[in-house]
Amino acid sequence: MQIKSRIRTIAHYPHEGIMFRDITTLLKDAIGLRATIQEIAKRQKEVQIDKVAGIESRGFIIGAPVAYELGVGFVPIRKKGKLPAETRGRDYQLEYGSDRIEIHVDAIQKGDRVLLVDDLIATGGTAEAAAALIQEMGGEVVECCFVIDLPDIGGRSRLENQGLKVFALCEFE
Ligand code: IMP
Repeated sequence: MQIKSRIRTIAHYPHEGIMFRDITTLLKDAIGLRATIQEIAKRQKEVQIDKVAGIESRGFIIGAPVAYELGVGFVPIRKKGKLPAETRGRDYQLEYGSDRIEIHVDAIQKGDRVLLVDDLIATGGTAEAAAALIQEMGGEVVECCFVIDLPDIGGRSRLENQGLKVFALCEFE
């Protein structure tokens, strides 16, 4: 509960009927922030990780300190048009419409063991696209780590059905 109790829920944001899980209350709390980073990093201490990849934008806030803690580099996976050098991208479906995420073509080397990090998994569409990009570049996705899983929406099973390992610090209904 150290982590879950520090996450705030905002009803009807950004749309009517959505319960938005807001991690800013977790991040601003010294104990909560430290526990979050350490819980994710400690799982990987026994396995070899070469890079942490974080998904824009809250995945950067969690992923970069996890990389620092593990002593490895950090790779940003960004929304369309934000990365300055040559990119490889992937489109994915949203509830309404579609979106695109991109990664620098030189971000992952063949054989890199990559930990994928984001704040929350809902449908799993964003993480699935990110994992596919890493794999296309020859990287191995060692685990997909989230602060929050919304199990009723099914993202975890979607990733697990593709052979990906999934870990989340807490769940919300
Ligand atoms: P998915 O692709 O449906 O799994 O949605 C996950 C993405 O949407 C992540 O990048 C999250 O940051 C974002 N997201 C969806 N719902 C929430 C929420 O309630 N709080 C924070 N982020 C959310």
